[in-house]
This record gives sequence, C-alpha cells and structure tokens, in this order.
Amino acid sequence: MAALTGMRGNDARWQDGRTFGMVYDAGPEAHAMLETVAAMFLHDNALNTMAFPSLARIQSEVVGITADLLHGPEASGFMTSGGTESILLAVKAARERCREERGVTAPEIVLPVSAHAAFHKAAHYFGLTIRRVPVLADWRADVVAAAEVVNENTVLVVGSAPQYPQGVIDPIPELAALAASVGANFHTDACMGGFLLPFMEQLGMEVAPWDFRVDGVTTISADIHKLGYAPKGASVILHRTKALRKHQTFVFDDWLGGFYASPGLQGTRSGLPMACAWAILHYLGTEGYQRLAQVTIDTHRRMVEGIRDIPGLAVLGEPEAHLVAMAIAPGYEEALDVFAVGDALQTKGWFHDRQTPPDSLHATVSAGNAPVIEEYLADLATCVGEVGGTRLTDRSTNYATLE
Ligand SMILES: *Cc1c(COP(=O)(O)O)cnc(C)c1O
Repeated sequence: MAALTGMRGNDARWQDGRTFGMVYDAGPEAHAMLETVAAMFLHDNALNTMAFPSLARIQSEVVGITADLLHGPEASGFMTSGGTESILLAVKAARERCREERGVTAPEIVLPVSAHAAFHKAAHYFGLTIRRVPVLADWRADVVAAAEVVNENTVLVVGSAPQYPQGVIDPIPELAALAASVGANFHTDACMGGFLLPFMEQLGMEVAPWDFRVDGVTTISADIHKLGYAPKGASVILHRTKALRKHQTFVFDDWLGGFYASPGLQGTRSGLPMACAWAILHYLGTEGYQRLAQVTIDTHRRMVEGIRDIPGLAVLGEPEAHLVAMAIAPGYEEALDVFAVGDALQTKGWFHDRQTPPDSLHATVSAGNAPVIEEYLADLATCVGEVGGTRLTDRSTNYATLE
C-alpha cells in the first residue's frame, strides 16, 4: 500500500478540480456510493450472463435508459468498455451491413478531420479507407466537401456532438442525409455529449439536433464514464433498430469450447464498470444530471468569458457545451506561447491536454471544476504574465500516450 501511495505522488489532482478532463467528479457522496458498488461487483464477469444474470439485467437497463434519453424508441445496443470500443463496433457494424446489403468490398468512412482518432484506429484494425473532410472556419464539418467524397464504397459517415477538439456540434442532419443517400450508416459520436446534451435540452438550452430524432442517424456512442460520472470502463453503443444491431455482434459455433457469442471486443468482461454505471444513473437520476449539467455549463461559460478577458488569449470557435480550446489571439502569436502558458499552469497543479493544429490547450469542463474556476482564471492571468514572450522548443502534444 505504501508503494502504491508513493507512486501516485505526481498524479493529476483531480479531486481538487484541477484536471480538465479524464476524471469526472460528481462529488464525495457519489464516490462513496460507487466504491461500495465497485467492491460488490469487483470479481463478477459478464462473459457469460447465465452465470451472472444480474449483469444481463444491468446491461439491458442501462441501454434502455440511454435509448430513452437519446430518443430511440426502437434503439438497441450494448454496454462497452469506453468510447473507443463503441466507435470500433460502430465501424465494424457499418462495414458488415454494407457488405451484406450493397456488396461493398472496399469500404470507406467519410470522416471530418475533427472526428476522434478512434475512427482511424477502427479503420486500421478493420481494413477501411478514410476519406477526410475539412472543417469550416467555425470548426464544423464541411458538408459540401463531405458530399464530394461520398460514393458507392461509403459505408459510414461520421459527425460528432460535440467534436472533441473545439467542442462544436457538427451539422448532423445534413451529414446523416448524405449517408442515407447511398444507403450507408451514419454515426453520431456523442461520447462527450451523450450524457450532457439531453439534460441541457431539458433545462431549456438550445441544442443543435444530433440524436435519433434526426433521420438517417443509425448509431450513436455515448460515454457514461465521461459526463455520466461513472468510473472508467463504461460507454453505450446504440443502433437505431435491433435489426441493425446484428451487424455488430460476433457468433462462432464451431469451437471445442462451445458456442461463442460476443457483443463487443472483450471476452472476459468485468462487472464492476457495468454495475457502477447502472448505480450512478439511478443515484443521480434526471434531477441530479440536470443539476450537474447546469453547474457544468455555468462553469464552462465563465471559463470561456474569463479566457477571452485576458489579452493575448482566445477561445477557438463558439463551443456549445462543455469543451474549450484555448489558443493565442490573432496578433499575439509572437508575443505569447500557449504551450508555455500550459506548462506554467501545470506547475500550479492545473492539467490541460495540449493539441494542434492550431496550438491550443484543451479543457473538458465538468461539475468538479466549478468550485475552483475563479482560482483557475486568476492563476491563468498570472501565468500569462509570468511566461511573457517565452517560446518552448518542445511542441509535442499529448492526448494519449503509449508507455
Ligand atoms: C472520449 C472520446 C472518445 C473516445 O472515448 P474513450 O472512452 O476515451 O475510449 C471518442 N469520441 C469523443 C468525441 C470523445 O470525447
């Protein structure tokens, strides 16, 4: 225990609200509840739900709750280990459907440059070609450019709600219509927005259309381990209908070990994140999520406004939900280096991801950041003053790492 405690000495201080992303904090009472549930389900295995019927029921209820939230009366799907697995499965399902229905053997994905890297991972794993689509000045996918690359090999068109880098919602109805025009799937990547946008809408905020109410949307990924405030390892992949879902699953009945049916990429599958996801959905309920959504959006708006008040800094685009890309304001590029600001913030315990292009610091705001947002903005102003014209030679960015 001492060794492990020691190893954690330099880990992100998310409990203090000083990490923008990676950990989503619904408060100490929620943690205590989740730790009890985690201990209950620590050893359970969803590989075979004949042995653990509780996990079959948990999965079915979590998927049902998510389908209701995303307005998919006939939607059907599974829990997965995270957004990446949900995306891999959406790509696999699109490939299988279009091979079966349209005979596509050289499948292509039409993918905005802002879409998550997990789609490239899926294309790499599963042998698809990506047709990249630029974004417009507002960082939304360029529908006209997408129309130019949609063709008879297109099996999937992708849009995000919101996209990760700048936090804007792509023109989902237009992109989904393009997909439908060639009989392809359309995936809304709502890994970030899936458990936030519905509650914003319920609170009366304006939210661009993105869910199953949009014609042509065939799959949606929504991460419970982000703004659903579950611990790591919980996402949902939904298909518009159960008939479409069959292209996702894998069944093999010619093995000495017996009949093998598997919804996702994992074999042995921990019950822990599944039970915790079920628990936090019920613990917070509609009221809890609305409260956290309001706090998150208020904090985000304050952050955007506070950044824009500091000379030399800018926020890219008009982020619609809870994401921020902080960059250097036009005209200040020589005078200030946003990565130097990021490193200075880190010495004060604040953690942002670096991203590029363009060079910017990313923040995923959630309720846990609310109590310290004024302290953050004060430190940010101090850091900008401190770094002055310092320009770092290390331009590396770090969304995710290998070792
Ligand atoms: C987080 C995220 C993903 C990937 O999800 P993981 O849970 O990290 O695997 C995909 N798309 C978007 C928009 C995301 O924010």
